[in-house]
Amino acid sequence: MRRRTAAARFEDPPDVNTVIELRQVCRIFDAEPPVRALHDVELSVHRGEHLAIVGPSGSGKSTLLNTLGLLDRPTSGSYWLDGVLTNALGDLERTALRGSRIGFVFQSFHLLPYRTVEENVMLAEAYRASGPSRGRRTRAERAREVLERVGLGHRIGFLPGRLSGGERQRTAIARALMGEPALLLCDEPTGNLDSENTESVLALFDELQAQGITLLVITHDDSVSRRATRRVRIHDGRLGLETT
Ligand code: ADP
Ligand code: MG
Repeated sequence: MRRRTAAARFEDPPDVNTVIELRQVCRIFDAEPPVRALHDVELSVHRGEHLAIVGPSGSGKSTLLNTLGLLDRPTSGSYWLDGVLTNALGDLERTALRGSRIGFVFQSFHLLPYRTVEENVMLAEAYRASGPSRGRRTRAERAREVLERVGLGHRIGFLPGRLSGGERQRTAIARALMGEPALLLCDEPTGNLDSENTESVLALFDELQAQGITLLVITHDDSVSRRATRRVRIHDGRLGLETT
């Protein structure tokens, strides 16, 4: 292993195939006493990788996801996202970077019940402050395209209440794909699904990975983490290799 000084390490960009790189990341919450939620976390995720992060409640999973999603800042250490050192960015730049690189998928699907599948997906952009130009295709055309990609081309006019759980989560994934993200950050994406619907989401993850999307999935479910190409365990804010 190559050794570098701490200062050089902080400055050296990772190679172009690295989507995420955390170096010595700590997150300490001001509390009495202070809580060290992330402890010297080192993590590299390569383009096209499907990484699972597993760990017990309170181990730092949400803090890690918030950090990776640029919703929270490390107390110390550096975070490179797609070649950009995020530490020095201001809030507007972080928002723009998040919008152009990251899609979020959560346990609850957060679909609007009185909007169709297509409208729910289009609404991904109603709140987007800015972003790269997406050419001349309309929002509706792009919504249909991502819905085809997740296998829901036949459901565009449905209300969420008429969908299965797996179809609802795939709608939420389509919405996350509207920004053409390099990276999908997923927090317990199958937590509300039975095994059949879980399988339909996992099959979609396989397809997205084959299309070059990088997936980072937080999960408690062994059947979900087993499908990843790599597993990492977090415990008391420290990352370690998953051995099972
Ligand atoms: P997980 O998602 O794995 O359950 P979290 O990342 O939510 O874990 O929390 C990690 C640790 O940080 C826990 O001890 C939690 O109580 C603490 N923590 C999380 N957020 C805050 C906060 N805003 N203020 C103080 N402590 C926090
Ligand atoms: Mg959590």
